[in-house]
Amino acid sequence: MSQEWNIKSRGHVCSVCYKNLVDRAPVVSVLKEIPSGYERLDCHPECWKAFERDWEPFSQWDSVYFAPVKEAKKEPVKKEDAGELLRQLVSLDDPAMKNVVYVLAVMLERAKILVERDSKTLEDSTIRRVYEDRKQGDTFIILDPRLRLDNLAEVQQQVVALLSGTKTLGDVVADEEAFASADEAQPQAD
Ligand SMILES: [Zn+2]
Repeated sequence: MSQEWNIKSRGHVCSVCYKNLVDRAPVVSVLKEIPSGYERLDCHPECWKAFERDWEPFSQWDSVYFAPVKEAKKEPVKKEDAGELLRQLVSLDDPAMKNVVYVLAVMLERAKILVERDSKTLEDSTIRRVYEDRKQGDTFIILDPRLRLDNLAEVQQQVVALLSGTKTLGDVVADEEAFASADEAQPQAD
């Protein structure tokens, strides 16, 4: 599976009975592994309980469903910019950006925008972390690149540069790709 991360939006109807989910009521969210990645199910708890299946979820968690609120966005604060940046990065689906994506997700978790719902070690011993947007309910399935501490500062600088607008996404992608290929190359004499 080449897909290293993924975004899954929370559904607004139950994946089992196809009736609307109830505002502010419990919901069971499930990630199912499929050949192309992951499928997300959001279900009434009672529907999930009664649901007959012959597969085990990759991940499963309980939360509360909030119906979308149509409100005028008044002040786009920095935090939302960071969330939007993560969406862009994840949609980019560029393996060279895995460190930046992961560090940004951790920063958003610390800022209480994302919550970590689960983490799984796959057979190839890589780790996937499942983060959920507290407000919108979208799920991000993110590869934990197990960054070494000496790489962390460099990656954090990239993220901060992106958030402050001193670098564009294109600049950072180019930097990270150069960094990734330098990492793979054999040591060279000058
Ligand atoms: Zn249902």
